[in-house]
Amino acid sequence: MTQLTDWKSISVSLRLNGAAFIDGRRVAAISGETFDCISPLDGLKIAEVARGQAADIDLAVSAARRAFTDGRWSGKSPRERKTIMVRFAELMLANADELAVTETLDMGKPVKYSRNVDVNSAAHCIRWFGEAIDKLYDEIAPTPANALALVQREPVGVVGAIVPWNYPMLMACWKVAPALAAGNSMVLKPSEKSPLTALRLAELALEAGFPEGVFNVVPGFGHEAGAALALHDDVDCIAFTGSTRVGKQIVQYAGQSNLKRAWTELGGKSPFIVFADADLDAAVNACTGSIFFNQGESCNAPSRLLVDKSIADAFLERAVALVPQYQPGDPLEQNTVMGALVDRTQLNTVLGYIEAGKAEGAKLLAGGEQLREETGGYFVAPTIFAGVTGNMKIAREEIFGPVLSVLTFTDAADAIRQANDTAYGLAASVWSRDINRALRSARALRAGTVHVNCYDEDDITVPFGGYKQSGNGRDKSLHAFDKYTEIKTTWIKLV
Ligand code: NAD
Repeated sequence: MTQLTDWKSISVSLRLNGAAFIDGRRVAAISGETFDCISPLDGLKIAEVARGQAADIDLAVSAARRAFTDGRWSGKSPRERKTIMVRFAELMLANADELAVTETLDMGKPVKYSRNVDVNSAAHCIRWFGEAIDKLYDEIAPTPANALALVQREPVGVVGAIVPWNYPMLMACWKVAPALAAGNSMVLKPSEKSPLTALRLAELALEAGFPEGVFNVVPGFGHEAGAALALHDDVDCIAFTGSTRVGKQIVQYAGQSNLKRAWTELGGKSPFIVFADADLDAAVNACTGSIFFNQGESCNAPSRLLVDKSIADAFLERAVALVPQYQPGDPLEQNTVMGALVDRTQLNTVLGYIEAGKAEGAKLLAGGEQLREETGGYFVAPTIFAGVTGNMKIAREEIFGPVLSVLTFTDAADAIRQANDTAYGLAASVWSRDINRALRSARALRAGTVHVNCYDEDDITVPFGGYKQSGNGRDKSLHAFDKYTEIKTTWIKLV
C-alpha cells in the first residue's frame, strides 16, 4: 500500500486528460468546446474536458454500431472475451494508485477508499463478469417430440450508459462489465462532475485488447450528451444510474425515440430500523459508519434512522459520541475517513436541507455546518437531527450528504409503516436479536436489499436495485445480464 506522502506526489505528477474516447482514440469535441473540471478538494481547475454534444454522441454510436455489426467483439467466443476482460481488470489494478488519486481529485472521497474500495471493487466487477461469461449455458425448451426449441441469449447491440458522480468508476463498471461481457458495444456518458476515471478506463480497455469502437466514452452535460444518447435511435438499450428526477426523463426519452430498453437505478431514502432488543453498539457503529461513508453520497445510505422510542436516547448518546471520528479531513491523507462533497452545488443543497431541518423544528444534535472553508473545498460536518417527523423534508427527500434524520416508533407495525412510507425502495436494514421479528420485518419492507443486523454488506454475487421510484432492473450478479441480452427462441420442426 502506498504511504501518506505518496498520494500527494502522485496527485502532483498526474497528467489528467479530459478528451473524449471514440473509436479507439482520444478526440476533442467536434465543436472544440470544453468545460472546466473543478476539484472539490480546493475549488481549483484540474482538467479541461471535452463538451460532448449530439454530434459527438452520433460519432460514438456509429463507431459502436460498426463494431457490433462486423462482429469484432460480439463475434468473439466467450472464452476470448473473458481473456480480454480479465486482462482489463489486471491493468486497472496495475494502475490502481493513479486511478484512485484521479477519483479523489475529481469527486472528493478519501483516497483510502478510492484505492481500497472503488478501484478494487471496480476491477473485481470487470473480472467477475469476464470470468462468468464462458460458464453460462442457454436452454432447450421441453417441447413435444416433433420439435427442438433453442432459447438463447444474444447481446442487445449498442448499449448507452449514463452514470452519476458518487462512485464514478464503480457505477460505470457495474454497467460496462455485464454489457461488454455479453458481447455488446457501448457508449458511456460519465457525470460532468467526475468524468476522468471513466475516460482513463477506456484507454486501459483498449490496451487490454478490446477492439476499437467497442467501448466509447463521451463526457458532457446531461441535457446535451446525456439526452442525445438516451434519445438516439440507433441505441438499443439505455442503462441509467442517477436521480429519480432524471430517471423519469430517461424513460420518456426511450418512449419518444425508438423504445429502447430503459433501465434505471435511482435514488433512495433508506430506513434503518432498530428494535429495543438489538445489539445497540453494533447498530450504532453500522448506522454512523454507513451514513457518513462517502460523505453520505451513497444511493443506499441509511439516511432515515427509525429507533424504538424506549432506546432512542441511549442510541443517540452513543451515535453523537462517535461523530468526532468522522470529521472531514484532507482526502489525500491516508487516515482521512470523510472527504469533500462533489461540488459547490451539492454543498449548497446539503446546507439547504440542514436549514430546512432546523426550520421545520428538528433538533440538531451534531454538526450542521460547513468545515475547512479555508481550503476552498466543499466539506460538511457529520450531522445528526433528532425529533424528525415523517412529514419533514429531511425525512422524505434524498439529501445525498452526511445527514442522519432520526425518527422513533412505538411497535413493529409502526416501524414498518414508517419505513415503507416513502416513494423510494432501494435498501433497508432491521436490527433485532429476535430472528422471527427480523425476518418478518425483512419480508414486509418494500426494498431491493434488506440487511439484517448489518448494513451495506455487499458482494458482486448479489443483485442491486430498487423497488418503487428507486428504479427497475438489477445491477451486479448474473441477473445483470438480463439488461444487456435479448432472449431468442429458435423453433426447429423435426420431420
Ligand atoms: P443526476 O440524475 O443528476 O445525473 C446522473 C447522470 O445523468 C449524469 O451523468 C448526468 O449528466 C446525467 N443527466 C442529467 N440530466 C440528464 C438528462 N436530461 N438526460 C440524460 N442524462 C442526464 O444524478 P447525480 O446527481 O449524478 O447522482 C446522484 C443520484 O444518483 C442520487 O439520486 C443517487 O441516489 C443516485 N444513485 C443511484 C444508484 C443506484 O444504484 N440506485 C447508485 C448511485 C447513485
